[in-house]
Amino acid sequence: MKVVEKISEMRRLRQRLARPVGFVPTMGYLHEGHLALVKRARAENSSVVASIFVNPTQFGPQEDYEQYPRDHQLDLSILAKERTDIVFMPSVSEMYPARFNSWLEVSRVTERLEGATRPAHFRGVATVVAKLFNIVEPARTYFGQKDAQQLLVIKKMAADLNMNLEIIAVPTVREDDGLAMSSRNINLNPQQRRAALVLYQALSLAQQLWSQGEKDAERIRQEMITLIKQEPLAAIDYVSIADTETLDELDTVKPPALVSLAVNIGKTRLIDNVVLE
Ligand code: AMP
Repeated sequence: MKVVEKISEMRRLRQRLARPVGFVPTMGYLHEGHLALVKRARAENSSVVASIFVNPTQFGPQEDYEQYPRDHQLDLSILAKERTDIVFMPSVSEMYPARFNSWLEVSRVTERLEGATRPAHFRGVATVVAKLFNIVEPARTYFGQKDAQQLLVIKKMAADLNMNLEIIAVPTVREDDGLAMSSRNINLNPQQRRAALVLYQALSLAQQLWSQGEKDAERIRQEMITLIKQEPLAAIDYVSIADTETLDELDTVKPPALVSLAVNIGKTRLIDNVVLE
């Protein structure tokens, strides 16, 4: 496995890789969720490139860029075990040199949910992912359903800009009790870790109500909100039931519908989702 910090070196090594190349972009601090993406890339491609880059431009000024967990040695040992060919780990100045002035805006689907709370977030995500696609030139790239809106934004960007690659969605990997795996879970103390389960409980409730025949989206939202409010450590950012393509909020659930939520547990902001089908 080669570990590469420079764009020029990444490009040079890329030319020698057996094709097709599968690519997994990450911010590191890898867990089983990331591994599901890498394993899928390994199974479906002749070569695998992973990137580790905590992208400063997708964090707001009050957000946890500095505190975002990092452990490069552990990440590299995990990626080596999964037979990753190249790990691309650029510095911030390599990706954003002085006088960097080009930004990629995806409109509409970026305006709600995560985008409503985190205004420049998807501009940062789209820009860095487009740059990584241009540097790595993968045939296929793998994103987690855990970040459902991000997946939608990347698909939209790739379609709108005729990017020549396939975007593959990988189902959310959960802890045994249902909590979606996330690098940020490390920030939860034991009490908060127990409280964090309320996200999955609310999503499961939505799924249960839907399977019992409830079609009134507002009633499902309200039931979820009531459940989450019973957890004193949880503060709701949003609870949404939306169209999976447009992210427009629904009055009546029409499958497939994306049920998603963002909840703060102490200082840790957690997101999760399920699709009603
Ligand atoms: P991150 O390092 O958080 O930027 O995530 C990198 C990629 O891993 C993104 O495509 C995420 O959607 C995906 N991912 C993160 N957590 C999970 C999870 N629990 N299950 C599946 N994919 C995940």
